[in-house]
Amino acid sequence: MIRYDIRYHRPTTAEEASAVLLGAGAEGVVIGGGTVVVPQMVRNERRARDVVDLRGLGIDKLTVHTDHVEIGAMVTYGTVLRAERLAGSSVLLQQLAGVVTGGCQILNLGTLGGSAAYASPCLDVPGALVAVGASMCAHGPDGPREIPAGEFFLDAQKTALGPAELLTGMRIPVAPASTGYLKMQAASSGWPVVTASAVIDDSAAHVTIGAAQAVPVRVDVSAFRVDGGWDGAALTESVREAIEDPWHDSQAPAHYRKHVAGVLARRAVERAGSA
Ligand SMILES: Cc1cc2nc3c(=O)[nH]c(=O)nc-3n(C[C@H](O)[C@H](O)[C@H](O)COP(=O)(O)OP(=O)(O)OC[C@H]3O[C@@H](n4cnc5c(N)ncnc54)[C@H](O)[C@@H]3O)c2cc1C
Repeated sequence: MIRYDIRYHRPTTAEEASAVLLGAGAEGVVIGGGTVVVPQMVRNERRARDVVDLRGLGIDKLTVHTDHVEIGAMVTYGTVLRAERLAGSSVLLQQLAGVVTGGCQILNLGTLGGSAAYASPCLDVPGALVAVGASMCAHGPDGPREIPAGEFFLDAQKTALGPAELLTGMRIPVAPASTGYLKMQAASSGWPVVTASAVIDDSAAHVTIGAAQAVPVRVDVSAFRVDGGWDGAALTESVREAIEDPWHDSQAPAHYRKHVAGVLARRAVERAGSA
């Protein structure tokens, strides 16, 4: 139960949502699926009087086009999992949705947009969006704009979204590629300790490590392709070196995350290679 009065807003356009947020200032909060922010408000860790529910915006659709996939910010993991015709690098998001924890509540309420906007280091979505070269669609007081995923995640729980700006969706290019997604959790129901998203095509291979630093780290591993396989030891070491400032919290210490990042990267690349 939220122990204070709130004003509930259900805008029907991004312009309206942004205007409400602008008027509310520090008292405004966006609710996507609400799986993070509602418990925070119930525990009184987050106070906000103006609650802006995005469910009236119609941004809960996943549309497959010839060369890209459009994912509304309110698309849930369940919708991604059930999507047909996902191809190339966009398949990575389906692999991710298949291993999100929290049961049917998180599958059917948790949104990709909410995870991206929350931008906590220990999430599945940020690293995967960087890996597939997503373009983040935002709408603020100055209208719509797009931000490359690689420039969207600035720090732990800090994104490029400005004041009164909301995320409306993500555009994923559909490049021919094979993908592999793996994550390590401290417990079967836990949030990710490290994630690895491998994307491999004929000319290049890269792995994006999530949850090991404040923001995702994308590593080019093309040089470790040898004779139709991989130089696993060199790839592992190179990914570890790329984690320069490892994240630490109650789930796992920094040195552990750095170690696991290398191992998961190698396995994700091997999995993509065998797909
Ligand atoms: C039991 C449990 C298991 C979980 N397991 C996982 C897991 O395996 N992997 C994982 O990554 N996460 C996990 N989570 C965390 C979380 O549920 C998901 O990351 C979820 O996708 C968050 O999305 P949401 O829509 O519920 O976010 P919300 O709670 O609605 O919002 C999160 C934050 O983002 C802001 N926000 C939301 N949408 C937008 C938007 N469109 N524009 C701007 N700001 C916005 C909100 O104001 C808030 O600050 C788990 C949570 C629980 C409770």
